[in-house]
Amino acid sequence: MRIARFSIDGNVAFGVVEGDTSSATTATEDGPVLDIIKGHPFAEFERSGQRVPLSKVRLLPPVLPNKVVGIGRNYAEHAAELGNAVLDDQGRPEAPVAFFKPSTSVIGTGDPIAYPSFSDEVHHEAELAVVIGRMCREVPRDRVQDVILGYTCANDVTARDVQRREKQWARAKGFDTACPLGPWIETELDPSDLGIMCTVNGEQRQLGRTADMIRSIADLIVHITEAMTLLPGDVVLTGTPAGVGPLSVGDEVAVTIEGIGTLTNKVIKRG
Ligand code: MG
Repeated sequence: MRIARFSIDGNVAFGVVEGDTSSATTATEDGPVLDIIKGHPFAEFERSGQRVPLSKVRLLPPVLPNKVVGIGRNYAEHAAELGNAVLDDQGRPEAPVAFFKPSTSVIGTGDPIAYPSFSDEVHHEAELAVVIGRMCREVPRDRVQDVILGYTCANDVTARDVQRREKQWARAKGFDTACPLGPWIETELDPSDLGIMCTVNGEQRQLGRTADMIRSIADLIVHITEAMTLLPGDVVLTGTPAGVGPLSVGDEVAVTIEGIGTLTNKVIKRG
């Protein structure tokens, strides 16, 4: 099931996406529709049966996370392209690098990424995002599935020059608009081997498979919740495959994940 969050006539609602979202009909009134749900997707909900065409609504970020927890260096080729080892000098895997992106950095598909004034090197990072469905802490490995609502596409937009220059990544990865999420949450998906792609102005920049993650989603949830409580709507970013590169004002960047859809954002000058 695909669950979108959207606004129509000034109201915000969640809806279940029905119909084929992969074709060119998406933008037409005969294309996919949203069956508006009563309440929210973090508990049992009912579909209202009230349907609106997807083309008539503005999609919003599919969740409003309390926090977004990012994981760095989870694909070996990407770690290597930035000159980072993923094994320590004994040949053991390094502990995953975790960081936060603030709730204020989250935008949805179609929203602009505003290029920050303090950077000259903003990069795209296409990532699979895990959406947490229930409050959880110290999740045992065999219960990880129970705390996941679904999956969406993310762009872990990063001011690479700032990341290099500052020890903490709060500004480099946490500026306003640095966390595009969307277009919706796919709740029925095996995330273990999905194609993940990033294009800029239609040109392919990143192409990977989630099977190449160094640490599995279960490993990451265990690792994070060992330290902190995750809340419904919180998001875990699972790392980016190789091929990260710069964005310029005017670019259109798209993250596509097999079985989910495409998250598209244009880069604008910060006003
Ligand atoms: Mg990343």
